[in-house]
Amino acid sequence: MSSESTSSINDSSSRPLNVAIIGGGIGGLSLLIGLLHNANLNVIKPHIYEAAAKFSEIGAGVGFGPNAIESMRVVSPEFQQRFFAMATDADPEVVNGVEVPVWNEMRMGMDGKSEKCPLKAGDVITKVCFSAWKKNVHRAHFLDEMVSMLPGGTGEGFVTFGKRCTDIQDGEGGKGVVIKFADGMEAEADAVIGCDGVKSRVRPILLRKIGDEEGINPRFSGKYAYRGLIPIDEAVATIGDVAKRSHMWYGYDGHFVCFPFDGKWESQDWVLPATVEEALEDFVDWPDNIRKMVQSLQKPDKWMLFEHPPAKSYCDEAGKICLLGDCAHASTPHHGAGAGMAIEDSAVLSRLLGALEQPDPRALAAAFRSYDTARRVRTQKLVTTSRDAALLYEFQTPGILDDIEKVRKNVQERLRWIWDLDVEQHCMEAVNRLKEEVKLL
Ligand SMILES: Cc1cc2nc3c(=O)[nH]c(=O)nc-3n(C[C@H](O)[C@H](O)[C@H](O)COP(=O)(O)OP(=O)(O)OC[C@H]3O[C@@H](n4cnc5c(N)ncnc54)[C@H](O)[C@@H]3O)c2cc1C
Repeated sequence: MSSESTSSINDSSSRPLNVAIIGGGIGGLSLLIGLLHNANLNVIKPHIYEAAAKFSEIGAGVGFGPNAIESMRVVSPEFQQRFFAMATDADPEVVNGVEVPVWNEMRMGMDGKSEKCPLKAGDVITKVCFSAWKKNVHRAHFLDEMVSMLPGGTGEGFVTFGKRCTDIQDGEGGKGVVIKFADGMEAEADAVIGCDGVKSRVRPILLRKIGDEEGINPRFSGKYAYRGLIPIDEAVATIGDVAKRSHMWYGYDGHFVCFPFDGKWESQDWVLPATVEEALEDFVDWPDNIRKMVQSLQKPDKWMLFEHPPAKSYCDEAGKICLLGDCAHASTPHHGAGAGMAIEDSAVLSRLLGALEQPDPRALAAAFRSYDTARRVRTQKLVTTSRDAALLYEFQTPGILDDIEKVRKNVQERLRWIWDLDVEQHCMEAVNRLKEEVKLL
C-alpha cells in the first residue's frame, strides 16, 4: 500500500498502469520489491522482463555503504533485515581506520622503461575509516535473498524470463508502449523502466527519442580490473590478519582492493573465464605477498571498466520510458557504490510511484520527472568521482600525483558525500515535488 499520498488526481481509469521493468539485476529486482512494498497495485502493476533464463549475478562480493543500506529499508524493511542477516559484521578496526600502504616503488616512465619512485613500498599513506555500516555480501547470495522476497518466493506472475528487449515503440493512437523482444513476442505497457545495465537497449531508445545522441554509448575508462575469490585461510596465510578486513593498497599505475565476505556460495554460474597467468603478467612488479594473493585467485575474471557519459535526462516528457541503475549511470567501481546507487534509485522511484493514488499516465510522467530531478546530478557525480578515485589511488591525479599529504586529505573526505545522504529526506523532497506538479495537472 502507498506509504505517502499525493493530492487527488481526477483523471482516473479503471485499470492499473502497467509498468514494464526491463532487466532483473540488483536495480530491477530492488525496484520490483520497492513497488510491491510501497505502491498500490491497483494503481501500478509492475512486471520484470529479464533476458536471461533465470536471475543471476556475475562476480564475487559487493559492498554497501550506509546510504545503500538505508535505501534498502525504504525499498522494504524486510530487505534491510535480510541484508543484515547475511552481511559480514563491521570489524571495529575497520571502523577505526585501516592503513593504506603503497604497494610498489617502480613506475613506467614516459620512455616505456621502469623508473624508481619517491614513495617506498610499505609506506602508509593514510588510514581510511569505513563506516560501521559498510558491509559486504556475496552477489549471488544477495540476489537469491532478493528473489526469495518476491511473491511465492520466485516472483511468479511478476517476472518473465528469456525476454530480451529489442525495441520500444509507441502504442496504438500514441497511447502507452509496445515492447518488442528478440523471440518475436510483444508486450504492451503504459511505461517502461530500463534496468538493463551498462549495455542497455532501453537507454539508446530513450536518448534518441530526446535527441541526446552523445549520451548513448558507454565509454572505456582506460582501466580494467581482475576479480576473484581467495579462501580466507589462504589469504591470511599470505598477507596476515589484514585479509579479514576491507582494505586497499595504493600504487603507481595500479591499486589492489581486498574485502572479506561470507563465501559459502557454491554455484559457479557467475564466474567469467580469465587466467591467473594473465593477471600475474600485469602484477609483475608487485611485492611477493600481493603476487601470491593473485596466484591464489580462484577462477578470476577480468572486467574492462566502462562508464556512461552524462545523459540529458533519465526519462521522456510523455512518461513512457525511464532509466534506473547502471543503464542510467554506469560508473567505474572505484567507489564500490554503483549497486548502492541503483538501490537508492529504487527507493526514490518506488516512493514516488507509491504516492500515486490514481492510475493516471500524466501523474506517472510527473513522477518520472521528479525522479530525474532527484537522481541525475547525484548519480552522475558518482561517475566522475569514481573515475577520479582510480587516478588518486594510482598517483595519477594531476596536481596531486604522489604528494602523500594531498592524497591523504582527498581520500579521507571523498566518500562522505555518498555515505551521508539523508535517504528519507531525499525521497520526501522528490514526493513533495511530485505533489506540487500533480496539483497543476
Ligand atoms: C568490478 C566491479 C566491482 C563492483 N563492486 C561494487 C560494490 O562493491 N558495490 C556497489 O555498490 N557496486 C559495485 N559495482 C557496481 C555494480 O555491480 C553495478 O552498479 C550493479 O550491478 C548494477 O546493477 P543493474 O541492475 O543496474 O545492472 P545489471 O547488474 O547489469 O543488470 C542488468 C540486468 O538486465 C538484463 N538485461 C540486459 N539487457 C537486457 C535486455 N535487452 N532485455 C531484458 N533484460 C536485459 C541482464 O540480464 C541483467 O539481469 C561493481 C562493478 C564492477 C564492474
